[in-house]
Parts: sequence; C-alpha cells; structure tokens
Amino acid sequence: MKIAILSRQKSLYSTQRLNEAGTERGHEMHVIDYLRCYMNITAHKPKVIYQEEALEGYDAIIPRIGASKTFYGTAVVRQFEVMGVFSANESQAISRSRDKLRCLQILSQKGIGLPVTGFAHSSKDIDGLIKSVGGAPLVIKLLEGTQGIGVVLTETYQAAKSVIEAFRGLDANILVQEFIKEAGGMDIRCFVIGDRIVASMKRQGAPGEFRSNIHRGGNASKIKLTPEERSTAVRAAKAMGLRVAGVDLLRSNHGPVVMEVNSTPGLEGIESATGVDVAGKIIEFLEKNAGPGKNRDRIKY
Ligand code: ADP
Repeated sequence: MKIAILSRQKSLYSTQRLNEAGTERGHEMHVIDYLRCYMNITAHKPKVIYQEEALEGYDAIIPRIGASKTFYGTAVVRQFEVMGVFSANESQAISRSRDKLRCLQILSQKGIGLPVTGFAHSSKDIDGLIKSVGGAPLVIKLLEGTQGIGVVLTETYQAAKSVIEAFRGLDANILVQEFIKEAGGMDIRCFVIGDRIVASMKRQGAPGEFRSNIHRGGNASKIKLTPEERSTAVRAAKAMGLRVAGVDLLRSNHGPVVMEVNSTPGLEGIESATGVDVAGKIIEFLEKNAGPGKNRDRIKY
C-alpha cells in the first residue's frame, strides 16, 4: 500500500515509528507536513498539492494533527477523504474529539461512565453550577487546556467559586467536575484500534499531585484492565467515531469514568511502558480495513 503520515516532523517519535513499521511491512511510506499541503477544490477533481506535486495514488493516510493546528489539519484530512482515500481517523471524528465538552456530551448520550460534569456561561449561575455537580471538592478545567495545564483542584466551595469567577472573568470556557479522589492521582490510558484494546498503561502523578500527566512529573507502567474498563474504552472510541484513539479513564467508586478521548495518541509512552508494537498494529489495521469508499462517519453530533 501507499500510505501517507500527515505529520509536522519526520523525527517525532510516533511519526518515526509509524514510518518504520509501515516500511518493515512492505509498504511505501511518505511523511507529509500537512501545513505545507495546499488544496485545489475544483469540481470533480479534488487535489492535495505538496511541494508543487499533486499527491496521488494513496491507499491510506494516518493523520497526526497537533491540537493547535486542528482547523487546517482536518481540512487537509477532509480533502483526502473527498478524494476517496481511507483515513485511520476521519476529519469529523478528529474535530469532534478536540472539543472536551462536545466529547462528554456525546459520551453521556451513549450512557458511558463520566465524572459528574457541569458547564455554564454566566457567572450569575456559579452557585447553581457548583450545587449541580455536588459541591466541593471540585476539579475545574479550561476547555482548551492540554497536558494538565488549566486543570485545578479546589477543595472548598469558596475556592471553587473564586477560581470559576477568575476564569470566567477572562472569558475562558471551563468545565466543572466532581473530584474522583479515590483515583489517587492515577489514570489509565487505553490504546484502542478498531474494536480492540492493543495496549494499556497507568500513569501515576508525582507525590502530592492529583494530575497524572507525564508532563507534570507522572510516571507510566503497564496495567491489566478489567472487562468493564475494556468495554468502556472501546465504546468511548466508537461513540466518537475514532478508529485509533487514546481513551483516558479514572477508576472511580462508581466504575470506570472517561475523562478524554484523544484522536492523536502518542506512541512513545505506551510503547515503552508496555513493550507492545503499537505502530505495527496501526499499520496492520490499515491493511485489513483501508480501501476505496471505506470512510463512513455516521455520528450525528
Ligand atoms: P489534560 O487534557 O490537560 O491532560 P485532563 O482532563 O486529562 O486534562 O486532566 C489531567 C489529569 O488530572 C488527569 O490525567 C487526571 O489524573 C487528573 N484529573 C482530571 N480530572 C479529574 C477528576 N475529575 N478527578 C480526579 N482527577 C482528575
């Protein structure tokens, strides 16, 4: 197969691993900087142009779109889709997953376990909002945050109220969430491909830190999932319309709850914590599933 990895840099760990895994399995691999692709959208002849040449004859693409480049990145993925090229993740599913609120709304509609979560616009509604999620302690999250930045734990009602007021005063959109204390600063990353979990790891936050992000000093190791956790992660990826996803769960005393579904999950942490060849499994999935007319997003939201 001829496969394009849409990525800013060949040297990034995940890009490099996918490139190697595809080459090892006998495929023609190309790394394409999606920000340097431009498009021709003439009727009947959609094209993606890169370094002054039209990209043609691809069987599949693997999008690795950075969070801050979602708009242009998904436009390039969509252009490949209109050309009939199979994408490991479709443009609509990537856009959907990038919005934390939209993600939670879709998961709740499917009855997937979530932390009790609230969202409001007006600071006049703060008291009601805090009550609706069961009062302090609470976790307050910036909708646009990543890597744990903008995720705050407030122990008291007054602290919660002040933080929400401060964020709203800056016009930042936030989620207010029940604090899952029993998770003990640990979360679980499930790597889903198709309808299977190919690898899973736990991330434990640094001592005294409730956030488990590796960027915040957490460390990762292999973990065995319960059947309920497995089915929650697979259902969450499916609900978002993602074929390749990193689903983050917390172990709560009301079962597994999903925090986030990531459409461009990194390979470095999961491969080194588990020893699984995740890149190879993504290529294998494309071998089994890619083909003309196989893109088919059916999620309504
Ligand atoms: P980001 O996308 O910035 O990583 P997350 O929503 O994943 O933000 O939160 C970062 C970390 O904070 C999580 O990995 C988890 O360890 C912790 N955390 C987030 N929400 C909660 C919560 N409601 N209860 C307990 N811990 C949480």
